[in-house]
Amino acid sequence: MGKVWYQCQRCTNCCKWEGDVVLTDREVRKMSEYLKIPLYDFVRDYTRLRENRQGLSLIDKEGTTECIMLDGENCKIQEVKPYQCAGFPNRWNFEGWREVCEAVPVEEKE
Ligand code: SF4
Ligand code: SF4
Repeated sequence: MGKVWYQCQRCTNCCKWEGDVVLTDREVRKMSEYLKIPLYDFVRDYTRLRENRQGLSLIDKEGTTECIMLDGENCKIQEVKPYQCAGFPNRWNFEGWREVCEAVPVEEKE
């Protein structure tokens, strides 16, 4: 039997949850380069301090809990999206995640 992994269906639920989209310094640099926005401007316009004040998070669109980088059903920074986004739900998840995420189990061929 192959290993099962969960294939994202782009339901965008995880881009609309409340809370931080955690960014490492390296991820912030990669995003600013990808978007061709100077680092200082990117940090000022697209990030905020995380709730625990231990680093940066992406901001939400004003008046919503939707990530600033969500464009319809696509992520504007798909190629350089942070680990928190790229790793969910296969590399990290939480209890009850299957009730809020539409990813489907796929069996990897050996
Ligand atoms: S960075 Fe992209 S994948 Fe991550 S929450 Fe924002 S829109 Fe979604
Ligand atoms: S909640 Fe799950 S299926 Fe929906 S976009 Fe996020 S990872 Fe993909």
